[in-house]
Amino acid sequence: MLSQFFALNDDHRAIADMAQTFAREKIAPHALDWDERKHFPVDVLREAAALGMGGIYTGEDIGGSGLTRLDAVLIFEALAGGCPAVAAYLSIHNMATWMIDRFGDAAQRGKWGPGLTCMDLLASYCLTEPSAGSDAAAIKMKARRDGDFYVLNGVKQFISGAGASDVYIVMARTSDDGARGMTAFVVEKDAPGLSFGANERKMGWNAQPTRQVICDDCRIPAANRLGEEGQGFKIAMAGLDGGRLNIAACSLGGAAAALDKTLAYMGERQAFGKKLNDFQALQFRLADMAIDLEAARTFLWRAASALDAKTPDATQLCAMAKKFVTDAGFAVANDALQLHGGYGYLADYGVEKIVRDLRVHQILEGSNEIMRLIVARRLIEQK
Ligand SMILES: Cc1cc2nc3c(=O)[nH]c(=O)nc-3n(C[C@H](O)[C@H](O)[C@H](O)COP(=O)(O)OP(=O)(O)OC[C@H]3O[C@@H](n4cnc5c(N)ncnc54)[C@H](O)[C@@H]3O)c2cc1C
Repeated sequence: MLSQFFALNDDHRAIADMAQTFAREKIAPHALDWDERKHFPVDVLREAAALGMGGIYTGEDIGGSGLTRLDAVLIFEALAGGCPAVAAYLSIHNMATWMIDRFGDAAQRGKWGPGLTCMDLLASYCLTEPSAGSDAAAIKMKARRDGDFYVLNGVKQFISGAGASDVYIVMARTSDDGARGMTAFVVEKDAPGLSFGANERKMGWNAQPTRQVICDDCRIPAANRLGEEGQGFKIAMAGLDGGRLNIAACSLGGAAAALDKTLAYMGERQAFGKKLNDFQALQFRLADMAIDLEAARTFLWRAASALDAKTPDATQLCAMAKKFVTDAGFAVANDALQLHGGYGYLADYGVEKIVRDLRVHQILEGSNEIMRLIVARRLIEQK
């Protein structure tokens, strides 16, 4: 058991190699262009799905790969080496797909599972609202039962993939009882009363769209309810345990790519008659970056293994790792930019894009303040 925290087996290495090759050949060459043009590369995502990356930890009976959370973080680290924004959308799709696999009934798994795992269908996760982000239990979107239907009214904010996705996992309120009044629904893109806001203009994550999801008397079959009424908060949070690991892995992969670029650059760039990597102060900085990434990677594998083993502290470890790894990843990427001097600030060198992409990982899937809140609450409860 312990050895898996410290060494990968042959299967893990094969999975990571596959994802690295895909990132190097299919993603990295286009990442700057996609960022500049705000292009969402759905065709490339479908190629990734053909290799099993559309339903990484989803059941094989619905076309998933049946892999572990540890496998998933290896894959997302590798893909983010090509483009953190593309990898991060895939991570959200995987989270939503797993939620249908885990909480859906046989009919729901059969209806959406195969399309999601091969990515004929794309998925989005809809929790945040304009007036409820960190305080997710304060959402206002209402779901009213009407015979064999539910009628949804309200607005979801900042939804990744919105407008392009086919399937939306929407958390809405079926009673006023705080977190216990929330219910999860699957809303299909052609549901009457569903519309989308404009694509947000953002600092990073430009290779995937972010839009409002608007429900205006949006009518969906009651059969689209995921789990029971009142289970929505639990379902939403269960998805996020794994989502947080995946986003952390995307930070790790982006930062590792930035460090690689820095090593190459410092081996060539000269100042004061020497290569940059001959200055000991800069060597120490490189060493610190590598140490921080290795510590982050080790912690991430530990949290992923805890989620695989369903240990009682898994949620706590996922929150800790999300905070630690995304902070470390951003700091390393920002250092990489600094070590490139003025060239780091230019788009062509690819480092400023990584910094822009990684910044949002400290905010979403629960901000890093909320990660501390989760950790602190548990510490105090246990006292
Ligand atoms: C590009 C992008 C993509 C996103 N994709 C999705 C998506 O696909 N689906 C989805 O549902 N959401 C998505 N989000 C939303 C994201 O999860 C929220 O932005 C995040 O949870 C923070 O909520 P907020 O923006 O409302 O900030 P607020 O909750 O208003 O927080 C503002 C600040 O206060 C801090 N804060 C709040 N409460 C506390 C507290 N109790 N203690 C200490 N600090 C606190 C926060 O950490 C933050 O720094 C996305 C956001 C972005 C920017």
